[in-house]
Amino acid sequence: MYAHCCTKSNLQSRQTDRNGQKVDTASIDERLNEFYSQASGYKDSIGYPSNLNLEFLQPLQHFLCLPLNNVGTGADRDPTELPLNSTRFEREVIRFMADLYGLSGQDTHHGYITAGGTEANLYSLARARDDHPDALLYFSASSHYSIPKSAHLLGLPHRIIPVNETDEIDYNALETALRQRSTESVILSLNIGSTMKGAIDSVDTVVELLEHLGISRFHIHCDAALFGMMLPFMPGSPCPHFGLKIHSLSISGHKFLGCPFPCGIVITRNRPATAYIEYVKALDSTLLGSRNGHAPIFLWYALMIRGRSGLTREVKECIENAKYLQNRLIGFNYPNHRLEYSNIVYLQKPANHIIKKWNLAVEKSWAHVVVMQHVDRLRLDRFVEDLILT
Ligand SMILES: *Cc1c(COP(=O)(O)O)cnc(C)c1O
Repeated sequence: MYAHCCTKSNLQSRQTDRNGQKVDTASIDERLNEFYSQASGYKDSIGYPSNLNLEFLQPLQHFLCLPLNNVGTGADRDPTELPLNSTRFEREVIRFMADLYGLSGQDTHHGYITAGGTEANLYSLARARDDHPDALLYFSASSHYSIPKSAHLLGLPHRIIPVNETDEIDYNALETALRQRSTESVILSLNIGSTMKGAIDSVDTVVELLEHLGISRFHIHCDAALFGMMLPFMPGSPCPHFGLKIHSLSISGHKFLGCPFPCGIVITRNRPATAYIEYVKALDSTLLGSRNGHAPIFLWYALMIRGRSGLTREVKECIENAKYLQNRLIGFNYPNHRLEYSNIVYLQKPANHIIKKWNLAVEKSWAHVVVMQHVDRLRLDRFVEDLILT
C-alpha cells in the first residue's frame, strides 16, 4: 500500500530514468538529505510561537500523498463528502472549538480551517465589513501586521489606537476616537495575546464602553492566534467567548496546537450569506477556493490525541517554564517582563549573535522568548548561560 510513500528510504530507492531522460537522483537525494539533516531536530528556535514538538504526528505521514482538497465549503454546512475531502474532520475540529468558546449546543455559527491566522483575520474582517458596510475599524498599535494588511485589502477605513503600559488597547484613547467617529457602526479587532508581549485586550471593558457610548451596531473580532488554544485551558483566565458580545475569533493552527504546515481556525457567530457553486457542488463560504484537506486531519488528531486534559497539562507546563525563565532572568538582574497568563517573556535585546542563534524576535530595544512545548528547562538554561556570558 501507500503507507510509506513519503518516507526518505523510498525517495532514495527511486533510481529509474523517466522517459529516457537522465535524472540525477543522487543529487536530488543529496539536496533533500542535506536540508533534512539541517532542519530535523532543530529546536533552538525560541523566539516565535510555533510548537516544534511534532513527533506525535508521525502516524499521519501516509496521508501526505493523498490529494485532499476541501474546496469551497465551510465546516458547518452540509459538506460534499467526496472520498478526497476531509470535511468530516474539519467539522469536528470546528465543533470542538465552538464548544470550547461557548457555542455548545448551538448550530448557527460558521467556521472553517484556514491557511493561517492571517486568513482567519482577513475573513473575519471581511464578514464584519459585509455586515457593517459603513463602519470604521479600530485596533491597537500592538496588533499583528495582518490586521492593517486586511484593512488595506478590504479598503476598510481604520484608526490605530495607542496601547497602555501593559500593551492593551488604551481604553481612554479608544473612547476618544469612538466619540469622534462620524459613522453609526464600528468594527473592533481586539488582541487576545498581542504578538510581542501577549497582552489581552478586555472584551468586557470594550463592550461596556460601546454601551456607554450608545453604539449598538458593532462587530468585535478577537485575534487569538497563539492564546486561543491556551486561555481556554487556564483556570481563571480572561478568555473571551461567544457568551460575550463577540462576533468572530481567529486562531493559528500551527502555533500552540502544532502542525507541520501553517493553518488556522476561524469561527464566526453567524453564517454568511453564501452562494451555491454548481461547479464545486458546495456553498461558497470560505475566502479561498481549493483548501488544504490535510490540515483538518492534523488538527483533529492533535486535539483528539491530547484531549482537553492533555492540552491543559501542556499549557501549564509552558506557563511554568516561562515563569522559570523569568525567575532565572530576575536572578541575574536581567531586565524582563511577563504578563499574567502569558508564555511570552519580554527581555532586553541581547547581542546579535544570541538573537541569531536562538532565532529571537526583536522590537526596538527589546526581544522576546515564546515558551512553547519544545522550549524546556534544559534549553532555557543553555539560553540563559549564553545571555549572561556575553
Ligand atoms: C501569529 C499571529 C497572527 C498571524 O498568524 P499566521 O498564522 O502567521 O498568519 C495573527 N495575530 C497574532 C496576534 C499573531 O501572533
